[in-house]
Amino acid sequence: MVAALVVGIGLIAGFELVRQERINAAFAVAITLAGWAGIATLLLGRQIQIAHALSLRDPLTGLPNRALLNDRIEQALARSRRTEEPFALLVVDLDGFKGVNDVRGHEAGNQVLRTIGRRLESVVRATDTVARVGGDEFVVVSLGTATDDEAAALVGRMRQSLRRPYGVDGGHVEIDASIGWALFPQDGLEPADLIARADGQMYATKRDSSQEDALPYLRSVDRGVIRDFESALERGQIVVHYQPIVDVRSGAVRAAEALVRRAHPDRLVTPSEFIPHVEQTPLVKALTLAVADDALRRIEEWEQVGHSLDVAVNVPYRLVDDPELVEEIADLLDRTGVDPARLTLEVVPSGPGAGSELDPFVVKRLRGLGVRMSLDDLGRAASVAAIRTLPLDQVKIDAMFLHDVGRGGRSDAIVRSLVELAHRLGLETVAEGVESRLAWEAAAALGCDYAQGFFLGHPMPAGRLAEWLAGTWPVITTGG
Ligand code: C2E
Ligand code: MG
Ligand code: MG
Repeated sequence: MVAALVVGIGLIAGFELVRQERINAAFAVAITLAGWAGIATLLLGRQIQIAHALSLRDPLTGLPNRALLNDRIEQALARSRRTEEPFALLVVDLDGFKGVNDVRGHEAGNQVLRTIGRRLESVVRATDTVARVGGDEFVVVSLGTATDDEAAALVGRMRQSLRRPYGVDGGHVEIDASIGWALFPQDGLEPADLIARADGQMYATKRDSSQEDALPYLRSVDRGVIRDFESALERGQIVVHYQPIVDVRSGAVRAAEALVRRAHPDRLVTPSEFIPHVEQTPLVKALTLAVADDALRRIEEWEQVGHSLDVAVNVPYRLVDDPELVEEIADLLDRTGVDPARLTLEVVPSGPGAGSELDPFVVKRLRGLGVRMSLDDLGRAASVAAIRTLPLDQVKIDAMFLHDVGRGGRSDAIVRSLVELAHRLGLETVAEGVESRLAWEAAAALGCDYAQGFFLGHPMPAGRLAEWLAGTWPVITTGG
């Protein structure tokens, strides 16, 4: 179109000059066309430049797009081959961004992406490249980053900056990122190799947090609690207390339930403050294993001072058919040499996925290990569905029924029925939350096999439990 216009105007101008007989017609046409062609070339060139620049930038964030990124990677490679200076390529994939779009809308999502671009640019050097290559995917080329330690430090800074809350329409959202990297030349000499390597590492870290994203409860997870718990786990600030489980008929302490606490310098944080959050994240697996490890070691410790106690460990429902957990438990049993029958897994039928169908192969493998399985909190929501799906040896009757048992009210009838239900299924029963002599005696009268509660013994450190067994116990007498 521009060309047609140029030729048209050129011709009109030429004819005018010829009409005025100022120059030779052919010469005039030639000059005019040449002049206009020059201008047209300039205009076109500028247009091409703008179009080119736009095609190299992500229109939303203004960051380099994949095409420009490829160019920058080539430049970095050429430079590094020449100067032998290394560089790192980092792949950043946002965790939880989809939720922002879904819940807050696309405008909020766009706003967050722009902020993310700025934050990433603020943690790298001015000469580095931050590119947006997909909806929630960024790539960074960091010149001079030479070692895995340096790359890890950079990743730490990037995540720290990305995790700060993002203000959107009056509220705020939080986002995390999975980041993988590759170093030139150690990890590859070609761009494709470097990207593949960084991608692979990114996905390896993502496998964990993606579950977190997929959870429907995600918005109720307090990330502050999670972070605190994560660091406590790393620093060994998680302690396990043990509460005695007593044989109702003989009055002997048969087992101890492992109950986790988070040790703060000035207090012990009870599980109700963090378990509801932790059990919605992949961290719960590490927690379960740490507690199981502690518990299995205690068996031997107590044995050495003359007490033969089994242990019970709480396991969230959705981990029951987690193949990785099952293998880790098998490993723990192997390593400690403990008879698997001395470990009871108390399946807690609340939390994400509670009551859903389980993978029969994994459950079979778990059973095959020889561990015992118990259903915790029988009588609460989801526990009845779980009694159908889980292979069990035992049920624990929820504490709420024991609080006012022994007075001939509804709780008496409920406990009696739950005991009957369990016994019909061939399962033993534990009465939880036995706080008084009245409850203890009622538990016995209503046919419970075992009992646990403050009346019998509080949760306490493992060493203290051994002393308590040797000294204070038995404080109760059966039969009243
Ligand atoms: P749970 O498995 O039903 O454990 C029994 C809870 O009742 C414990 O609370 C215990 O201290 C408390 N308790 C015991 N006797 C009495 C009593 O007579 N009266 C009253 N009012 N309470 C009594 P804790 O230690 O605060 O644990 C709460 C819940 O947190 C546990 O309930 C369990 O669901 C969860 N939990 C504890 N440790 C772990 C763990 O290592 N992993 C997982 N996934 N969950 C855990
Ligand atoms: Mg329990
Ligand atoms: Mg319970």
